[in-house]
Amino acid sequence: MTSTISAPADRAHKAAKRYIYAWGDGAAEGNAQMRDMLGGKGAGLAEMTIAGLPTPPGFTITTEACNDYFAAGERLPDGLWDDVLEAVKEVERRTGKGFGDPANPLLVSVRSGAKFSMPGMMDTVLNLGLNEQTLQGLIRLTNNERFGWDAYRRFIQMFGRIVMEVSGDRFEHALDASKQAHGAQQDTDLDAAALRDLVTEFKGIVKADTGRDFPDDPYEQLDLAIKAVFASWFGKRARDYRKNQHIADDLGTAVNVVTMVFGNMGDDSGTGVAFTRDPNTGEKTLYGEYLTNAQGEDVVAGIRTAPKIAQMQTDMPEVYAEFQRIGQQLETHYRDVQDLEFTIERGRLYMLQTRSAKRTAAAAVRIAADMVDEGVITKEEAITRIEPAHVDQLLRDTFDPGALKSATKIVNGLNASPGAAVGRAVFDADTAVEWAGRGEKVILVRIETSPDDFHGMAVAQGIITARGGATSHAAVVARQIGKPCVAGSADLNIDYAGKQAHCNVTGTQFQEGDWVSLDGSTGALYLGKLPTVSARFEDQPELQKILSWADGIRRMGVWTNADKPEEAAQARSYGAQGIGLCRTEHMFREGERLQIVRGAILVANQATRAKAKRAAGTALETDEQEAIATFDAAMAKLEVLQQGDFEGIFRAMDGLPVVIRLIDPPLHEFLPNLEDQLVKVTRAEATGGASEEDKELLATIKSMHEQNPMLGLRGCRLGIMIPDFVKIQTRAILNAQIAVKASGGNPIAKIMIPLVGHTNELKRTKELLEAEAQAVESAAGGVEVDYKFGTMIEVPRGALTADEIARDAAFFSFGTNDLTQMTFGYSRDDAEGGFLLKYVEEGILPVNPFQTLDDAVAGLMKVAVEKGKATRPDLEIGICGEHGGDPASIFKCEALGLDYVSCSPFRVPVARLAAAQATLTQAAERDK
Ligand code: ADP
Ligand code: MG
Ligand code: MG
Repeated sequence: MTSTISAPADRAHKAAKRYIYAWGDGAAEGNAQMRDMLGGKGAGLAEMTIAGLPTPPGFTITTEACNDYFAAGERLPDGLWDDVLEAVKEVERRTGKGFGDPANPLLVSVRSGAKFSMPGMMDTVLNLGLNEQTLQGLIRLTNNERFGWDAYRRFIQMFGRIVMEVSGDRFEHALDASKQAHGAQQDTDLDAAALRDLVTEFKGIVKADTGRDFPDDPYEQLDLAIKAVFASWFGKRARDYRKNQHIADDLGTAVNVVTMVFGNMGDDSGTGVAFTRDPNTGEKTLYGEYLTNAQGEDVVAGIRTAPKIAQMQTDMPEVYAEFQRIGQQLETHYRDVQDLEFTIERGRLYMLQTRSAKRTAAAAVRIAADMVDEGVITKEEAITRIEPAHVDQLLRDTFDPGALKSATKIVNGLNASPGAAVGRAVFDADTAVEWAGRGEKVILVRIETSPDDFHGMAVAQGIITARGGATSHAAVVARQIGKPCVAGSADLNIDYAGKQAHCNVTGTQFQEGDWVSLDGSTGALYLGKLPTVSARFEDQPELQKILSWADGIRRMGVWTNADKPEEAAQARSYGAQGIGLCRTEHMFREGERLQIVRGAILVANQATRAKAKRAAGTALETDEQEAIATFDAAMAKLEVLQQGDFEGIFRAMDGLPVVIRLIDPPLHEFLPNLEDQLVKVTRAEATGGASEEDKELLATIKSMHEQNPMLGLRGCRLGIMIPDFVKIQTRAILNAQIAVKASGGNPIAKIMIPLVGHTNELKRTKELLEAEAQAVESAAGGVEVDYKFGTMIEVPRGALTADEIARDAAFFSFGTNDLTQMTFGYSRDDAEGGFLLKYVEEGILPVNPFQTLDDAVAGLMKVAVEKGKATRPDLEIGICGEHGGDPASIFKCEALGLDYVSCSPFRVPVARLAAAQATLTQAAERDK
């Protein structure tokens, strides 16, 4: 499909640059490609005109003019006004009307239009060019006095509010009072006389508020309106929005001056907005609303309940058919669903805007899949059109749409973290913890949150705040811990003392303990306990279809981090192609196991020393023998349990690789907290004596205490100090493999050593492990067990010496959580709960490096990849840090040429899409 591109015709100009692009009579000087210069609206109007669609003639003043306006200290660039006058003349010629001409007046709308549609930009002013004289002309020509006065009062109202900055309420109140006085239900019930009185009143309001008369000269009106559009680019709302969305300040906004067409000329006229497909579900049907005898944003403003667009089929069948045809044409032309604005003037349809439609996650997926089936777009395009966040959303619970319709909305806010949450309102973190502790589901309601509220956020189902944007503490933390969150609900009045809240707009209120339902995907809070719909991957065939296309495109594999057979099976159903990280120690913490592990740890050091002594031929003391016996017995139990776990995982991942990491965390993590134990013993001593066991436990905890445990005895260091850990885990893995294979399975094991910083650490561990492996093999009657031996790269020194390390490792897996900690020198636990948030908020760091891979960390990875492959060209390299499920980080992994990313099970679908997008982006970059 080709798009219509007309070479911008030359246009004479007085200004130093060409600032104006006009359209009309089926031709346009701009086109859809020129969004940078013309903004989305201007480019769309030009393109629609070229495509032969009915648009009212007009012209666009470029974004460059906006930038030059500010560069010149808020002055129109020299010559621009002359060029505007020339362009107005052209519109006059095209329409046969005259700007300011009482006999046949040309009226225009002045519309802002940036490259990206942006809240905060100036609202559109309609009917510009009206004054007492032109009004008379309009009335004469249309023979419709009521229409004339309605247009005029609307103009004064809009121009007064938008350009002259009179409070809009002033006009609204006057309008309401007039309706009341005349017993009118709707605006449309006011007659010409009433509207004429309103005009006088409106002018009075303007004069009273601004001290100036309402400008009568159409050219002065135009000049002021153009400048007001420019000024709105640097208005506070627009600036805040850009900052939040990372949109550059120097894009500027264009100004569109468009011949007015009138939807308020009677019942054969109207105005509306419509999507070419349903933006909620993606269903292929015109979706939208329209109003007869109405103008501009009456539909959106909801001043009358607008009928569905389908009603137009009955009211104006020909217009409807034409609109349907145009919608189809635009969709085909732009190869995407369009969001259309239109007006009907006395049965004639005019198109006023077209743009790609915003859509829900469900619609995005359905539309992309349908458009591939329809042959409109390719599979590759379908992949690029879906945002990873969409996939994420589709896997989160939502509210039952039926229940939502009849629900009482309390307030709207920012959709800061998606998902549906139901719980009882609590107003502080301690109460949240207390209530959650007794099994209550709670929603935490705060004016704003700070690190002091974290404990409450962690136990809440969801969080709502009255203040703060998408990067506020509440929003950032909620996304991080995967809780639904609505932030910045400015209309919610929260009364901590009274433990209640109410909305200024809806008037709805609730108190502590009341059930509320929070929709983090749309940013709304409802009263009561709404039913949720669980988001099952199995029930989403379109998503699966798109992801299967992604699988065909992506270069990298997508594996998962899973420690249990159920998790592995879950991840596999999501499309995981292997386990990139199975953390064995997670198996140590469950139920009776923790007691066994503790038993082993308590005597681990003593037993290890005794074994060394025995190996050197020295006779052992009784207590030494006992220590060995206790230790070995506990370890034997663990070995059996672990082998069972591994068998389960191998079965769940039959035929797929499973990377098992040997024990990693510092041992004290399995012991009671030092302070708790100290308190316990001290208390017991004070009341008659503590048990020997407790005292011994305390002594062991003390002896194992480290100042910086994350940098202490953990990872491969632990295995070197207490080799039995490596031995039993090796035996458990290999015996599980033998058992699964014997029962017809196909286990593929990869044993991974954590935290290697020096090649000798790996060598030593490998010797230990290989000896044990041989022992297992001969015990099993000389079978050969197939396994690969590799390492994590997560210590900067390891990355920098990857060439040496690769001699003994068949694979690398980047542990980017530790690698980030150690590269920055941050302790993650301390940083994320503390200063890191401020760092991100204040822009000291662009993003949280534990969420999105930092470039310097990626730089270390690059060194490791290059050095590792220099030693071993077939080295398999993946990532198993949490970054493996983050789309932006996945792009970086693609650029590094990693073989796979591994992430938690529920992120696997997101990673499949992001990896495919990364492949496509890389390919596009190579082609450049
Ligand atoms: P927004 O950026 O908010 O979409 P627009 O510039 O599209 O603002 O204007 C809002 C509405 O005003 C349009 O949808 C249309 O109904 C009306 N409008 C704008 N220009 C004209 C025009 N020249 N003739 C008739 N209606 C217009
Ligand atoms: Mg608007
Ligand atoms: Mg619009």
